Amino acid sequence: MAKVLKVAELGNPVLRSPAHPITNIADPSIQKLIDNLLKTVNKTNGVGIAAPQVFESWQLFIVASRPNLRYLHAPTMEPTPMINPEILSRSDELVEGWEGCLSVPGMRGLVKRSREIEVRYCDRFGQPHQKIFTDFVARIIQHEYDHISGKVFLDRVENTLNLMSEAEYHTRIVCA
Ligand code: ZN
Repeated sequence: MAKVLKVAELGNPVLRSPAHPITNIADPSIQKLIDNLLKTVNKTNGVGIAAPQVFESWQLFIVASRPNLRYLHAPTMEPTPMINPEILSRSDELVEGWEGCLSVPGMRGLVKRSREIEVRYCDRFGQPHQKIFTDFVARIIQHEYDHISGKVFLDRVENTLNLMSEAEYHTRIVCA
């Protein structure tokens, strides 16, 4: 039975350490971690979660865009585990968007991301995929890729005026 994992918060060194590549995707401990991450992202109203956020320093994250209480207008997709992902290219065209993070509770920040990216990753069965993603899903992937690189979205906020509490965000942005 999958369980909801404890999430590391800003200040914990695990969020600042580059994660290790996974050499044996079939290992039961990795498969269990994937199941637990899927459950955790579902229960916490996240649209993505990376293994370092649950104290597991592996190059693995889940992309799980769907509308929920924290992201009302997110597109719906099948939750997708991405293992040993590489961002092969990023568009020069950047778009701004308000991001939050399960590891930075109560905070939103305006972040510029590439509108389109090409990603190579392995799925949980060890099969390689190479795909182009755009807009909100591309944003999630860039956010999660930062996590496995030891970065958080706050590092990409250009000005502290571009920070907002989650409560203010919901009164000002969602109703707009
Ligand atoms: Zn995050």
